[in-house]
Amino acid sequence: MARQTPAPEGVSGMDDCSDGHAGQALPVAAARERLSALVAPVTDTEVVALAQLPGRVLAEAVSSPIAVPGADNSAMDGYALRADDLAEDVRLEVIATIYAGHPFQGQVGPRQAVRIFTGAPVPEGADTVVMQEHVAVDPDGRIGFTRLPRPGDNIRPAGEDIPLGAEVMGPGTLLRAAEIGVLASIGHDRALVYRRPRVAVLATGDELVPPGQPLAPGQIHDSNSATLGAMLWRLGVEVVDLGRAGDDPQTLERLFRDAAARCDAIVTSGGVSVGDADHVMPTLKRIGELHLWKIAMRPGRPLAFGRIDRCWFFGLPGNPVSVMATFHQIVQPALQRMMGMAPRPPLTLRATLQGGLRKKPGRTEFSRGILGHGEDGRLVVASAGRQGSGILSSMIRANCFIVVPQDSGSLEDGAEVDVQPFDGFVW
Ligand code: AMP
Ligand code: MG
Repeated sequence: MARQTPAPEGVSGMDDCSDGHAGQALPVAAARERLSALVAPVTDTEVVALAQLPGRVLAEAVSSPIAVPGADNSAMDGYALRADDLAEDVRLEVIATIYAGHPFQGQVGPRQAVRIFTGAPVPEGADTVVMQEHVAVDPDGRIGFTRLPRPGDNIRPAGEDIPLGAEVMGPGTLLRAAEIGVLASIGHDRALVYRRPRVAVLATGDELVPPGQPLAPGQIHDSNSATLGAMLWRLGVEVVDLGRAGDDPQTLERLFRDAAARCDAIVTSGGVSVGDADHVMPTLKRIGELHLWKIAMRPGRPLAFGRIDRCWFFGLPGNPVSVMATFHQIVQPALQRMMGMAPRPPLTLRATLQGGLRKKPGRTEFSRGILGHGEDGRLVVASAGRQGSGILSSMIRANCFIVVPQDSGSLEDGAEVDVQPFDGFVW
């Protein structure tokens, strides 16, 4: 197979894909790598306040100007005291009460303790906290122990979360709840992030009618615009909805040029096969560059990848399940790179297939599956039912892709398979 190195600026990178059906389909992993190698991260940055950071990508290394926590503090509601005083029969005088946010200025001396609450700074002299459940309070207010802590127990040392000066995250970090929380904990109320790529979405096809309008015979509602819009929104790019275009080269050319002038990428659906009504690839070739169009995956073999001037072009097939599969497997990693993100390969788990799967060798197949636990607690997965690339509702029934390798044939009941869960874990 002809392999292509990244095309230099302004030079057409056409290769095995340039002439219709000729050429081998590219394996999924190779396609993913090639796209990610070609697209470049946006370089513009902006300063954004914490509340607007979810989903943004950090553009700088961040080091902590403080230690977190800033001082030794209590991990429990209890009593702070000196480890030297830990004994079965000892009685300690309680000299103060310390709440979180209210440091105690005095010292804890021998045979003394302070009542202390979670998060309150441990006072001078004390080095151990005994939890209140392990303390008996005498009628005279002194305390004894019902259970002895070990020296140093229940104290969170200064800097245990983040030492002073530590680098907490680097450029390319996707900012989710935990990252944003850490920024807040070191006192940052904003961060320098990459500009979000602006991505245009266009559905193509004479048969398409927007949802909300009645259908004439032969027409269908455009669902791809909505699905793509949702996937792009979740990814964190800025979405520009171009609506729908008929299968007409002049209209496509005008819309492609307009979008290329103001967007970082265009994602289209439909019209990328080599049928008479498929004008996306010829139009892209005419006004830009076509780098790649045939990927050995199912659903979704054709994918027109190229660019118009500085704007990257992803022409997805029209079938709604193919749109979702090619977006997740091929387009999303490239867009994440444009966003400035470090690569995040999808979580892949091994599960036992229930019921077998029919497949021909030649393409990597992303079947919709239902993942769960078998009686013995192991992960098991079964097909989510009919796998036609037009059966979008199968994506609702399913909770994972079953990834069947390119060279594999049909799989028997009980085979071990790779699955990619649809849902992330913590976000
Ligand atoms: P195409 O790739 O243009 O040959 O389209 C393949 C199939 O996907 C056809 O059945 C189209 O009607 C359907 N399709 C194309 N675009 C959309 C869309 N935006 N929403 C729903 N179905 C579509
Ligand atoms: Mg079409």
